[in-house]
Amino acid sequence: MSLFGRKSVICAICKKQISHKHKPKSEWQIEGPLCGDCYVTQMQKFYELSLRQKCVICEIEKDVPDMWEPRYQWDMKGLLCKACFDKKDTEHKNLKEFCKICGKKLGMIRYNPKNKWPVKGQLCRECWDSQKAKLG
Ligand SMILES: [Zn+2]
Ligand SMILES: [Zn+2]
Ligand SMILES: [Zn+2]
Repeated sequence: MSLFGRKSVICAICKKQISHKHKPKSEWQIEGPLCGDCYVTQMQKFYELSLRQKCVICEIEKDVPDMWEPRYQWDMKGLLCKACFDKKDTEHKNLKEFCKICGKKLGMIRYNPKNKWPVKGQLCRECWDSQKAKLG
């Protein structure tokens, strides 16, 4: 048994020698033939990309490539639309903000110090009031 005289073909993805070659679809942007396994993998990948999914928050249906994966800190499954992703991102950033004076965790309502105050960053209501009383 010899391979001489037979032109060996190599899969463009896994570089395995292949006996039965599959021609990749033009939208895959792959040069050269594929083995059966890689062909199937690519088919699945592109099929998934062509699917539409619902945003896990607002349930709007969108093309999967237009959707966002949640950040790992959010501890969520599924995909989000851009609007919900941004909202969630902001919410999460806000959750991590604390009053610059007393260190209390700030909720959705926070107060910006006045320009003339020597305080930078956002404040809780109480601290804002006390600064106002002190500094005017
Ligand atoms: Zn392959
Ligand atoms: Zn959404
Ligand atoms: Zn405070």
